[in-house]
Amino acid sequence: MDLTWSPEEEAFRQEVRDWLTANVPTDGPAGDVEEFDDSEESFEFRRAWQRTLGEAGYLAMHWPTEYGGGGRTLVEQVIFNEEYARAKAPAPVNGLGLNLVGPTLITHGTDEQKSRFLKNILTADEIWCQGYSEPNAGSDLAGLQTKAELVGDEFVINGQKIWTTLAPFGDWIFVLCRTDPDAPKHQGISYILCDMHQPGVEVRPIRQITGTTGFGEVFFTNARTPASMLVGSLNDGWRVAMTTLMFERGGNILGTAVRYRSMMTDLRALAESTKHNGGYAIDDPVIRQRLGQLLVEVELLRHNSERAMSPLLHGEPPGPESSMGKLYWSEWYVRATELAMDILGTAGLHPGVWLTEYLGARASTIYTGTSEIQRNILAERVLGLPRGGRN
Ligand SMILES: Cc1cc2nc3c(=O)[nH]c(=O)nc-3n(C[C@H](O)[C@H](O)[C@H](O)COP(=O)(O)OP(=O)(O)OC[C@H]3O[C@@H](n4cnc5c(N)ncnc54)[C@H](O)[C@@H]3O)c2cc1C
Repeated sequence: MDLTWSPEEEAFRQEVRDWLTANVPTDGPAGDVEEFDDSEESFEFRRAWQRTLGEAGYLAMHWPTEYGGGGRTLVEQVIFNEEYARAKAPAPVNGLGLNLVGPTLITHGTDEQKSRFLKNILTADEIWCQGYSEPNAGSDLAGLQTKAELVGDEFVINGQKIWTTLAPFGDWIFVLCRTDPDAPKHQGISYILCDMHQPGVEVRPIRQITGTTGFGEVFFTNARTPASMLVGSLNDGWRVAMTTLMFERGGNILGTAVRYRSMMTDLRALAESTKHNGGYAIDDPVIRQRLGQLLVEVELLRHNSERAMSPLLHGEPPGPESSMGKLYWSEWYVRATELAMDILGTAGLHPGVWLTEYLGARASTIYTGTSEIQRNILAERVLGLPRGGRN
């Protein structure tokens, strides 16, 4: 695809850049690292920031205007994401609503669901959680056991989810439930929306290696939700769930490439200022080589991201190729933060941005499907290789 920007697009870029320069808060918790800081203070800071973005028309820019989105083109969205990453702006608080359940409802939801939920996702008045993983169903998601039974005009949900991002702050959760225990495991699953503020839903926070607790387990004990909260058809939830995962994996990869360019600048500055083996780290040929290699890889990430955008430009959802981007950016992130720790030596063990980034990078190769699972998807669905030996 050709990503030469037209004069109108360049003007849009300048408009966005000016707005971000004037509005990105400089006095609160920083953006990227804060993905793993879910303290109450950081949460409210990001909620306020999301509302500022919304008022300026820079939220959910790709959603149709009838649902409160910006109705912008994909190219404008890409430009915005690049500028956003360049400005190191904080992430909006309701990411799972904006990027996962919102687009999924636009694709598969009923009119009632769209008008009930989309506006409050934008305003961050209702925070969303993703109820996929269970203690015995992560990579093998289709093995999930949480069940929902239709009783009258309500679903009654029983079971447990785990690794639920933002669970202690959540208002609503989209839950994958087994609704037909006798069907083959990929069938008999339904995608159900459930209010978390009810006696049948209990959240137990989990402390992460970074020390934060905005993460948790969610227990459902006779939790209730109206039958109208079913997304898609009964027992057809796997298809809906895959739409959500494609949006999740295909997300803001071009913005990530820009963010990584900026991280390269930080890594270089770190190497130039850190004493190492009697000189500075930047003088060490191995460290120089690793820096150069990472820079080459950022450029590859950028070009591959542009390629992965092609289906989106034709109005199609992201395909399995989005696994390539996810695998690549998460593994790059681990290598880059390992280099930072090697430069810092024992000083890297003191709490600070690089230590948080280093620990957080590990999580990125797990969430949204582990690196091994992305490789399986690429092998089977992109390269057409035979399936590996598993159930
Ligand atoms: C920071 C973070 C946030 C998360 N947020 C959420 C959330 O909001 N909602 C949610 O539902 N989940 C969330 N998760 C959970 C995440 O989706 C799962 O951790 C992930 O899918 C892996 O599942 P698991 O932990 O059960 O590991 P397992 O599936 O048990 O995997 C263990 C290891 O075995 C490997 N493995 C498993 N199967 C295969 C295979 N077939 N081939 C090769 N290797 C294999 C895996 O790659 C991994 O290395 C989050 C995870 C993290 C780390």
